[in-house]
Amino acid sequence: MAKTPRLLPENPRLFRARVLRTRRLTPSIQRVTVTGDDLHEFPFLGFDHWFRLFVQRPDQDAFRMPDLDGKKWWPTFLAIPEDVRPHCANYTVAAFRPEVAELDVDFVVHTGRDGEPEGRAAIWACAARPGDALAMLDQGCIFDVPDGTSEVVIAAEETGLPGVVGIAASLPRDTVGRIIQEVPTAGDVRELDAPAGVTVTWIIRDEVDPRAVPGCAALAELQRYVPSDDRGYAFVVGESTLATEGRRHLHRAGLPKSRITFSGFWRHETREHAHV
Ligand SMILES: Cc1cc2nc3c(=O)[nH]c(=O)nc-3n(C[C@H](O)[C@H](O)[C@H](O)COP(=O)(O)OP(=O)(O)OC[C@H]3O[C@@H](n4cnc5c(N)ncnc54)[C@H](O)[C@@H]3O)c2cc1C
Repeated sequence: MAKTPRLLPENPRLFRARVLRTRRLTPSIQRVTVTGDDLHEFPFLGFDHWFRLFVQRPDQDAFRMPDLDGKKWWPTFLAIPEDVRPHCANYTVAAFRPEVAELDVDFVVHTGRDGEPEGRAAIWACAARPGDALAMLDQGCIFDVPDGTSEVVIAAEETGLPGVVGIAASLPRDTVGRIIQEVPTAGDVRELDAPAGVTVTWIIRDEVDPRAVPGCAALAELQRYVPSDDRGYAFVVGESTLATEGRRHLHRAGLPKSRITFSGFWRHETREHAHV
């Protein structure tokens, strides 16, 4: 996976939570709303604030979650016996309402050849019921625009959409730039609260090539973009090829590597039925 620069909190905190409700937000997104006794204390920063999500695996009879606060949580997590270790995946805060201690998580529902959801976290989200237990380890933001940036360019496929929604709403209102957002279907297009100077381009995969690997169409659009100077900032996330090839293009087009945040959120593995 691509290198992910992160603004990790000093002392990442674990929040225990439970499912409050779920709904299919758009055709490809399952929204799970969670609450917790201390969730109102989640130190939400806006932008693409993300966390490690821990959920029960289908083969487990209970959710067993030890205390995992801090930066050095990984060895402790790995030391949990395999059969009781919860599933861990990375997710973004889609919305946070501290006044009612509610946090929304938007799961991309990707399906296999039989049309059934695949991906352990998405399967959990689709089957989640009120009261189901989970935990979230705060990881802060990845988006990190330098001072004095001339323009911002953002490119993502659907796994980056919750972050893009948050970034668009958090950007200073005088920001100028471009958002390229790919989604699977027209029904997945959402209202973005982006500054007036930021142009938003939605790319609907169904209308381009429904069989294409997620991120290919966003990458093609990004490769047509030329930075106006070397003081821009780019944020490119989603399927690994979009992240790495997007960064390569932007750097060749004149943007210093230090001004490009890129992260492969997942890697497309089975390529035999898809075009890259
Ligand atoms: C910082 C960060 C924030 C993220 N935020 C979100 C978020 O808010 N919402 C979200 O949906 N995802 C988000 N992701 C991406 C998510 O972590 C990955 O999609 C992850 O693989 C899902 O975990 P899983 O346990 O379901 O997948 P796994 O069970 O590990 O994956 C199973 C298979 O599904 C494939 N796969 C995974 N994701 C997709 C996909 N989207 N489309 C097609 N195939 C896929 C994998 O390649 C693998 O072959 C984020 C990732 C990062 C790094």
